[in-house]
Amino acid sequence: MSKILDVNYEGEFAYHIYIEKTFDGLKGAVSELRISDRRALIVTDKNVAPLYLDKVKDILSECFCFVDEIILTPGEENKNTDSIAHIYERAIQDNFDRNDFFVALGGGVVGDMTGFAAATYMRGIRFIQIPTTLLSQVDSSIGGKTGVDFRAYKNMVGAFHMPSLVYSSVTTLKSLDEIQYASGMGEVIKHSLIKDKDYFGFLTDKLEGLKDRDMDVLIETVYRSNVIKKEVVEKDPKEKGERQLLNFGHTLGHAIEKCSDFSYSHGQCVAFGCLAAMHISDVTTEEENKAVCELMKAVGLQTTLKPMDNQTILAATRKDKKMDKGHVRFILLHSLGNAYIDSNVSDDSMLEALEYISK
Ligand code: NAD
Repeated sequence: MSKILDVNYEGEFAYHIYIEKTFDGLKGAVSELRISDRRALIVTDKNVAPLYLDKVKDILSECFCFVDEIILTPGEENKNTDSIAHIYERAIQDNFDRNDFFVALGGGVVGDMTGFAAATYMRGIRFIQIPTTLLSQVDSSIGGKTGVDFRAYKNMVGAFHMPSLVYSSVTTLKSLDEIQYASGMGEVIKHSLIKDKDYFGFLTDKLEGLKDRDMDVLIETVYRSNVIKKEVVEKDPKEKGERQLLNFGHTLGHAIEKCSDFSYSHGQCVAFGCLAAMHISDVTTEEENKAVCELMKAVGLQTTLKPMDNQTILAATRKDKKMDKGHVRFILLHSLGNAYIDSNVSDDSMLEALEYISK
């Protein structure tokens, strides 16, 4: 049971997303790009390379005339311009030109960096996303946001650059550790909360399958999240309006992430942020709130934030890139499955919500 989606950019077809169990369909998907005389540089990291690089390289070697790889040190702390320089150096060494491809094989860190290197190398070359974490399959590989962190500033330097193909093999999610899997589930639950009550129902119905990482359930989950992300980014590719809805849970989530010195995963912080934003929205029933918490717990997410200095968290929200003329831009719910943008959330409401999720 595989799935394919088309993504448009500025009204025209831009790329396919393949959601498959294995890499068996990768050759066919890449061949559609008609690139037999092109070269590819696979960018991956030291955790992913031993698991999937040989397999992917073998397949790509049947599609491209030359394939090289660069294996980066994993981790957000390496999502920086030094790593980008390594990618440029290898591409220059291999004489890559504008017709060649970069291929991201890994999680969101590898994907964002490969995309940014592709956006800027020789003023832009094409790239393929082969995401291997749940977060990157449901979220970061789609929509063309690429970039790196700069000094202490997350995603401060970047570009919008669309991939030519996204290929997700959900079997790769089997090797993710519990924390990374739960982190991706934070974004999955967020998608259902902002856009699709039926999807939320699907997730609660398939709890056991999600816990067991059942392949069919994961294909459907990645697909339904991809449909939501695709529809949002097609309407608003440059995040001027609708796309901001995807930031549900992120205003306080990012602040918690920063103030906890990144001791919580990104998706865990988004989950805390979602619970806080639901509390501020104050439109969901007790039963719905309970169902959200139960779903989060079942997939390995915590629902109670450890005691932190809430004033420091509040101050950190003001450093968020997503400010609106000095006001923190917040995403709230009209109802479960229906989100909107609000720039009038008071400090007191945020503090109260932080207290609520800390109990
Ligand atoms: P990550 O890329 O750091 O991957 C998490 C860890 O899992 C890494 O250690 C990695 O080596 C390892 N890993 C990857 N695939 C694996 C597999 N199949 N089996 C075992 N280990 C595996 O983290 P992430 O959560 O995938 O991505 C987070 C990044 O994504 C952040 O930098 C964030 O800013 C970015 N992001 C970007 C967008 C976007 O729209 N571009 C959206 C959301 C998040």
